[in-house]
Amino acid sequence: MNKECISTNLSAIRQQIAKAARQWSRAEEEITLIAVSKTQEKDAIEVALQAGQRHFGENRVQEAASKFPSLREGFPDLKLHLIGPLQTNKVKDAIGLADYIHSLDREKLAVALAQEMQRQRKRPSLFVQVNVGLEPQKAGIAPKDTPSFLRFCRKLDLPIIGLMCIPPAEEAPSPYFALLAKIAKENNLSQLSMGMSADFPEAIALGASFVRVGSAIFGARKKVELS
Ligand SMILES: *Cc1c(COP(=O)(O)O)cnc(C)c1O
Repeated sequence: MNKECISTNLSAIRQQIAKAARQWSRAEEEITLIAVSKTQEKDAIEVALQAGQRHFGENRVQEAASKFPSLREGFPDLKLHLIGPLQTNKVKDAIGLADYIHSLDREKLAVALAQEMQRQRKRPSLFVQVNVGLEPQKAGIAPKDTPSFLRFCRKLDLPIIGLMCIPPAEEAPSPYFALLAKIAKENNLSQLSMGMSADFPEAIALGASFVRVGSAIFGARKKVELS
């Protein structure tokens, strides 16, 4: 994808976000666009930075570590979101790198994050990932187990700001976005990480505060990635 395309796509997405915000009587500033840059080269990310984009999402800690520390030198207000499944042996690097982690999905990971946050004196904001479609191949806490998992995390004093979901690929996403919003409200969480290239306007309609958009900005990825 060439440079013009990336900045054209970015401004088109920003306009669609503004439009959805107006349509649903939401303040545009409540909605943060995360440009999902997994598998993209650094020069593509630089084009997005030059076009004013500051929030980026990556799935893999190692890939993020290879791209973002140097990009931050030029753009100190860059924010990095880790949005993919996180193994406990990557927690140290994840805390060191990330401003936000969207994939808190099990007790063992919660304990590891709490310990490492204490050690590094650094507290990236966290989202608990909810498996809204109860899909066996997907990560996330079952909707019914989310309140008790949140209590567990709160005892660890983790900085949880909201919930994240990836609805089933083959179904209309809106009922799942509504479910995530309901669980968040019931648990006094204000932030919702939901909506991707194909469905971010629907997610905004249902309260998304962070939308994660990859291919609609950077073009189709070469390899298929499961999350
Ligand atoms: C890849 C990915 C995205 C972006 O997907 P697109 O369809 O390319 O917008 C969003 N969220 C997660 C968790 C992802 O893994």
